Formats: sequence, C-alpha cells, structure tokens
Amino acid sequence: MNTEETGMSSAVSLRGVRKTFGDVTAVNVVDLEVHDGEFFAMLGPSGSGKTTVLRMIAGFETPTAGHVRLSGRDVTKLPPFERDVNTVFQDYALFPHMNVLANVEYGLKVKKVGRDERHERALQALSTVRLQGFEKRKPGQLSGGQRQRVALARALVNRPKVLLLDEPLGALDLKLREEMQVELKAIQRQIGITFLFVTHDQEEALTMSDRIAVFNAGRIEQVGTPAEVYENPASAFVAGFVGTSNLIEGRTALSVLGRDGVYSVRPEKLRVDIDLDAELPEGEHSAIGTVAEVVYAGAATRFVVDLDAGGRLVAMQQNLKASSMDVLKLRDARVRLAWRREHEFSITGPM
Ligand code: ATP
Repeated sequence: MNTEETGMSSAVSLRGVRKTFGDVTAVNVVDLEVHDGEFFAMLGPSGSGKTTVLRMIAGFETPTAGHVRLSGRDVTKLPPFERDVNTVFQDYALFPHMNVLANVEYGLKVKKVGRDERHERALQALSTVRLQGFEKRKPGQLSGGQRQRVALARALVNRPKVLLLDEPLGALDLKLREEMQVELKAIQRQIGITFLFVTHDQEEALTMSDRIAVFNAGRIEQVGTPAEVYENPASAFVAGFVGTSNLIEGRTALSVLGRDGVYSVRPEKLRVDIDLDAELPEGEHSAIGTVAEVVYAGAATRFVVDLDAGGRLVAMQQNLKASSMDVLKLRDARVRLAWRREHEFSITGPM
C-alpha cells in the first residue's frame, strides 16, 4: 500500500535501497514507508542491517542503490546536516566537560541561534524530558537514564521532523529500560514527531511501537503492528524471533492436527493438563508428551514438553494457584498440552 492509498503522509520512504561494503551485502533491497507521527521500530538480530538502514536515513552512509525520501523530498545524496532528522546514539555522545544545559544548547549554537532563544528552547527540551533543575550538572553526575534523557533533549531541541534512535535504551539495566520505554512513548505522544528506532529486543519493539519492521539478513521479512507481527508472523523466522516459535510440522502436524504443513501456537495459548484423559473441550487440539524442563519465573512457569508425536513445544502458564514446589515436581511428568484451534496459525513464508 502506498502513501496515497492510505491517505497518510510519509515521513520516511525507502525505495529499492541497497548497501554493500566490499563483499558484504549489509542491506539487500529494502522498501519501507514510515508515516508521519509514527513510533516505528526496526527489529532484527545483530548484523541484519537495521543500523545501516538508520545510518542511510540519517545521511551517514550513502546507499549503493535506491532512494531515501524524507517528507517526499529525495535526500539520497544530501549530507546529514541538510536533512530534517536527528539521531540519538546508544552511547549518548554527550560532551563530558559541558553541563547539561550547554550540551542541549550546543546544536543551536552551531546553527547560530541567538542566546535567548537558545536558552529558552533548551529549557523547554529539558522540561519535555522531565529534567528541570539538572541544567548545571555535568554528564558524569547523572544516572544512565538521566544521561539518556539529556541525549534525547539535545536531539529534540532542533525540532526535527524525524528522530532516529539507535538502540536508545541498550545501555540501561532492565528496570530502568522498562521505565524509559513507557517514558519515551509518552514523550513521543506529547510532541507528536516521528520516532524511528533500532532494537534487537523484541519485547521493547512490541511494547513501544505503532508498527515494526522485522529484519533478517539485510531484508525486511514483515512490517506490521505489534499484534499482527506477533499473532500472525509471515515466516518461521518472524515467529521465532518475535516470541517463541513453537513449530508443529511434518508428521507431528499430521498426527496432532490431522493435516500437513507448518503451524505455530504461542506458549501462553497452551494449557498444561495433568489429567491426560480429561475430556477435551469442543474446539481444542491437544498433544501428549513428557516435560523435559520446568522454569519457575515467579508470575509464570515455562514448561518445555517433548511430544510423543515428535517435536517440542514451550508452554507458559500463569502461576494463579501453583507454588514453585508444585510446578517443579512436574519435571519428567506426562502431560497433555491443549489449545484452542483458532490459536494455531499456519506459517507460509520462507523458512
Ligand atoms: P547490530 O544490532 O549488531 O548493530 P545491525 O542489524 O544493525 O546489527 P548492521 O550494523 O547494519 O546490522 O550491519 C549489517 C552487516 O553489514 C553486518 O554484517 C556488518 O558487519 C556489515 N557492516 C556494517 N557496517 C560496515 C562497514 N562500515 N564496513 C563493512 N561492513 C559493515
């Protein structure tokens, strides 16, 4: 679907973009439309080409082939400073000897914006990222999360149309990362500019994004909302990378589902029955197997089950009543996995 058809305007548009470094093909023909005001994630394993795509949008790399457009304008050959984008890097790249205010004002100073306006805009950007009162501190006197916010303020002060973020939360510990995920999303909603970010963390992409592009080996395998990508993965790669793949295929598919093909069921959709002979509710499929592994994780337990019909499935069960003792006893137990048929989906894309 192109932009005219959706009626939305395109903040970033890539057409037939390719990038090679000598013998290495980093990006192998990518087409992508990011809409105005979207929070968009480029998700994929290390080396899949997402950072290279981000750098071509920023202007730090020139595509070997194809075109990059920002708000409809072809910027393929333009240097970074002539593009209406700003980048927040994973290491923040703050000036250690300058205080927070000077760090945030710096870009405006380079652009020769007057002192009063510079000051006012920097204070406003610091207020957006909730860092009022920190103007005089040096980066070394801030926590990781606060440094991340200064880096964000420094980019926002330029009022770019598109903000590019390269693994913006990668340097933070888990708890802070989860807090900043919520905060980044809130800031983006408040200021309404397009955020395009790179991550290899599927949960982060699912939590924050309006849409996600899943990268694999220099190509995009699927673009969709978090729910589309998670519940309806276009390929076995996407099913495996965005969640646990849980494939049912070959003779297992024939014996368990009564048909050929490759199918997947998400772990949280599987119920672990201890009573193998209990009546199966209408509309469910089931498979019997042996519990190979039990991982108790507080709120939930993860069961790895080797199916009698062949293959292995992972089931996640909420610990509504069970304690750790109850679930750990189930190692090596015989169990029945059951799920509603509408939760099994066929995987048709490339393997
Ligand atoms: P990561 O999450 O590890 O940053 P990525 O998905 O962002 O990975 P890229 O950094 O875009 O992947 O790299 C894609 C491929 O291109 C990799 O094989 C990488 O080694 C290669 N590559 C990237 N930059 C260069 C370069 N300047 N010279 C040579 N090869 C490069």
